[in-house]
Amino acid sequence: MNHQKHRDISQLCIHTITTMPWKIEEAAKNFSEAGIKGITVWRDALEGRNIRQTGNMLQKHDLTIVSLCRGGFFAHKELSKRKAAIDDNRRAINEAVELGTSMMVLVCGADPSQSLEESRKQIRDGIAAIISEAAAAKVKLAIEPLHPMYADTRSAINTLAQANDMTEELNSSWVGVAVDVYHLWWDPFLEKEIKRCGENKNLFAFHICDWKVPTTDLLLDRDLMGEGCIPVKQIRSWIEATGFTGFNEVEIFSTVYWKGDQGKFLRKIIRAYKEHS
Ligand code: ZN
Repeated sequence: MNHQKHRDISQLCIHTITTMPWKIEEAAKNFSEAGIKGITVWRDALEGRNIRQTGNMLQKHDLTIVSLCRGGFFAHKELSKRKAAIDDNRRAINEAVELGTSMMVLVCGADPSQSLEESRKQIRDGIAAIISEAAAAKVKLAIEPLHPMYADTRSAINTLAQANDMTEELNSSWVGVAVDVYHLWWDPFLEKEIKRCGENKNLFAFHICDWKVPTTDLLLDRDLMGEGCIPVKQIRSWIEATGFTGFNEVEIFSTVYWKGDQGKFLRKIIRAYKEHS
């Protein structure tokens, strides 16, 4: 045999939102029984829970808590809302510490009543305002550029080049980038920008799924790797060429999969990961 045909699952992480119908306790048990080693926790999965105890519960299941999703939403025309966003990000940093993770993902925000450029300035200022807290808490901040279809209200950072520019400008070892294939696969400069991101030690996280064709919903119709048009393996090869050895995080929002049996879906995730990522 030459190369191993399929990858093992030692780098597989799953986001709690991927199996949203499961409570975090069920997800932890089922992930762990399937041999999965990483989990990324969405803040809504923690609602009504003691965060420290929940983090301990995840660690007892031998799960590495890869990151907390998500902080951000820094861009607002009104100053009061920008201040409230910074406060919320400070709370999220504390939640990350309680949970026992060393990274928080940032969906940076955008306000359609102002220019994207203005939103980007506010994002930069918002992140700059929380770097000292993030450093004190030892929580890395990962800027996730979002597909341009979300430039209206979710993020004014839409390419990896923009995320690289911002992390380089902020120039802190606590600020880096989360590369998500769903958002960036179309970018002709992706390989080059992944290389740049790695060279500057800014590549913090790698999220995977697939782009369904035709896609029926711009938010909730993601698919399993191998079911769409994203060259996931090729993008992973660029990611690994930088020296990245972190988790590959499966992040799928799908009303279709959420309606079905989550145990079956988990088995499909593992197969898709092994064969198509
Ligand atoms: Zn993502």
